[in-house]
Amino acid sequence: MRITIIGAGYVGLVAAVCLAKLGHIVTAVDREHVVQDLQDNHLSIWESNLFDMLVISRSEGKLLFATDLIQASAGADALMIAVGTPTREDGQSDLSQVEHVAAQLFAAGSCPPLVIMKSTVPVGTCDKLEQSLQAAGIRTEVAFNPEFLRQGSAVKDFMHPDRIVFGCHSRQAEAKLRQLYHGIDAPIQVCDRRSAELIKYASNAFLAMKISFANMISDVCEGYEADIRQVMEGVGADRRIGPHFLQAGLGYGGSCFSKDLQSLLTSGKAIGRSLPLLEATAQINEERIPQMMDKLIALWGNPRGKRLGVLGISFKPQTNDVRDAPFLTLVQLCHLYGIDVQAYDPVVQHLSMKGVTQVDSAFEVSAGADAVIILTEWPQFIELNWVLMVQLMNQRILLDGRNILSDAMIARLITQEDVVYIPVGRPVVH
Ligand code: NAD
Repeated sequence: MRITIIGAGYVGLVAAVCLAKLGHIVTAVDREHVVQDLQDNHLSIWESNLFDMLVISRSEGKLLFATDLIQASAGADALMIAVGTPTREDGQSDLSQVEHVAAQLFAAGSCPPLVIMKSTVPVGTCDKLEQSLQAAGIRTEVAFNPEFLRQGSAVKDFMHPDRIVFGCHSRQAEAKLRQLYHGIDAPIQVCDRRSAELIKYASNAFLAMKISFANMISDVCEGYEADIRQVMEGVGADRRIGPHFLQAGLGYGGSCFSKDLQSLLTSGKAIGRSLPLLEATAQINEERIPQMMDKLIALWGNPRGKRLGVLGISFKPQTNDVRDAPFLTLVQLCHLYGIDVQAYDPVVQHLSMKGVTQVDSAFEVSAGADAVIILTEWPQFIELNWVLMVQLMNQRILLDGRNILSDAMIARLITQEDVVYIPVGRPVVH
């Protein structure tokens, strides 16, 4: 098939590369500077395998880049929309990027016979888009095909998903979508567009809720000197619950969970429903960083002028994405308290933020620090020489925001003088 994808960000570029790998001819359309970078084989996205697959697909002539949507989609079998749908100040989804794409199609008066919406959009958006395209005399069908990939394992997730969902209304659209994904071995659910739109939001809301649930129970563990790791191991062993997304820590971040939760809350409000589970999920998440900082400030007394070393900037390991990362909340709070931040991340580079000094190694983070906080569970942080790390510190307070240090390592560390180890959902060790 010939596919045009508008939006070559995390989702669009991964889809483009993977669909080319499946044998389709894909043209990915984006803004001039993005396309220029891609044509120079310069990826701003750090994803395992993505670069190699991109280079191969391009050399085979299966992956092209363009800036003109209408030219690039002429003669295509389908147009996939993968532009951003961020949240507006009022919590509603900002659909201006999708609307801009639609405006280009209206102006051209033409469009491929199938539009596949990959962007996460509020329930009813695809219906409206199809109606307005058809009202403008453009013969096309809009299908919703949510994306469930996780950043950090995006290519693997795209090629080996748990399920593929097609929200569409005609057999022709379904047949085209099946052809598009031919070669991927996964169960396919075909349903109406509105249900498909809600599947995406409900899935993300549920995952966020699991994380907030674990974090809520971790507060109880702290009050009663229990161990959240053991509690969640026991809880997650129940097959009705499952072990995933039950790790307590400093909360979720990233471009999707918070925004999709907000959007679903807004959709609920629009029909007079308050969705209290989701409100609690968001609130618990927002409390994580301030709660950890309260513990630190209780030890420090006066925080002004203290130096906090931070390990991990991206919102999770294996990605360079800092959108909605807990790091951003932490930096804001540090700024308020007058705390200097010294941060290191294995892949996030050249971050320019007031009050933040970015350094080139974990050891530079701990050198002279009055505390070090582990914000992202990069595997290389587990392997660090922690004895040396604490020796380099000015004040030996270690906040393990992701519970990554082993009990054996903690036992070794506290033989050092004045070490205080503060985990999440477990007793403080000193
Ligand atoms: P992104 O910001 O990384 O990418 C969007 C791209 O669209 C950007 O490169 C931007 O330049 C381009 N774009 C926007 N308007 C354009 C226009 N008019 N012409 C040309 N290019 C244009 O966003 P993303 O993370 O890839 O997310 C895209 C959608 O997928 C969102 O709706 C998101 O909710 C959803 N989603 C994201 C993830 C994820 O992990 N990032 C997972 C599942 C679903």
